[in-house]
Amino acid sequence: MNDYPSLKLNSGKEKSLQRFHPWVFSGALAKDIKHSPEGSLVNVEDNKGNYLGTGYVQHGSIAVRILSFVKTEINQDFWNNAVQSSWDMRQRLGFTDNTLTNCFRLMHGEGDYIPGLVIDYYAGTCVIQCHTSGIYAHRDLITQALINVLGKQLKAVFDKSFETLHGAVPEAANGFLYGQQEDKMVLENGHQFKVDFTTGQKTGFFIDQRDNRQLVGQYSKGKTVLNTFAYTGGFSVYALMHQALQVDSVDVSKSAIELLNENMATNSPNATNHQGIAADTFNYFKTFETQYDIVILDPPAFAKNRGAKHNALMGYKRLNMEGLKYVKKGGLLFTFSCSQVVDSFTFNQTILSAAIESKRSIKILHRLTQPADHPVNIYHPESEYLKGLVLMVE
Ligand code: SAH
Repeated sequence: MNDYPSLKLNSGKEKSLQRFHPWVFSGALAKDIKHSPEGSLVNVEDNKGNYLGTGYVQHGSIAVRILSFVKTEINQDFWNNAVQSSWDMRQRLGFTDNTLTNCFRLMHGEGDYIPGLVIDYYAGTCVIQCHTSGIYAHRDLITQALINVLGKQLKAVFDKSFETLHGAVPEAANGFLYGQQEDKMVLENGHQFKVDFTTGQKTGFFIDQRDNRQLVGQYSKGKTVLNTFAYTGGFSVYALMHQALQVDSVDVSKSAIELLNENMATNSPNATNHQGIAADTFNYFKTFETQYDIVILDPPAFAKNRGAKHNALMGYKRLNMEGLKYVKKGGLLFTFSCSQVVDSFTFNQTILSAAIESKRSIKILHRLTQPADHPVNIYHPESEYLKGLVLMVE
């Protein structure tokens, strides 16, 4: 039970909540949300006053995000249960005690029934990203829940919400909420990566590409590989360690390329068959004519919202038209989109139109997505954001 204030929906707007979709759009509410403080907890009811769910308010187009479909208090017990159930799932899947991989996503927002909260686990350090002020308000309870559930396995908790809050909490600053750890060395499928969670992008590493990196590794032996949007070298390290002939990595961020070079050297200290290039991918494409056996395109989200979708699709098409030019006959293109608003059908259509422009024969070999520690709540298909295709290009 709880005694949070109630918000009523307009008649007929309860259907999606009854199907456990966790978002309430502002247009569904009977009264303006302005009167409920940003981040405050509320019970959402249908027009007749029947309870539907408990969640927190945000003054935006998604007005309430549901944390529970049973009337409960959002207290320490709630957070203990939420963290425990996410941890238990990862434990059942073999993530929590794995000698080859010690970094994984512990909490994946809506996919783990906690809209707005991401927690990545890096060999004992948890990096939290709150996407909303409603979650940020609970970060001390969430930290305590991590201490309670992980016990001795937890070394530190770092809050990296400044970037994901987008100014919603003006006083928010990144920093440790528990313990203190420097940059972390982690293992992914036996490969070593230094993760800079304090100044790196997102929580420091793109854990979501783990399975797809493994696939790149599988095809890399004896091949030349171009990894664009390489960040700290996830795909590059796998290619190198699976005996690629040459690995060229491009990223616009100088600091990412420095860390990439460090990661390549850590994994293969004497290798000289790789280079990290700090450059814009589109500019880099203009500077050379060599083709590669494998080209990887893993750009940042081109569309952050629906309004930007059209331009994003044009961007994906242009990028893939360029990328296809640099794939040797019989080679592979690994192409990705992590834009949540671009669904897999639309992404495939965009790649199809790039393929048509290239006038080459192309087969789809694999359709790729996010790994098991980034689950998709079946009632919230929007949690599926990572899409990829592996193309054989003749
Ligand atoms: N493939 C990476 C993750 C890529 S994230 C991995 O497996 O870890 C996207 C990357 O694209 C970021 O590192 C960002 O610095 C880079 N980036 C953004 N715009 C770019 C551009 N125009 N050219 C090259 N890199 C770019």
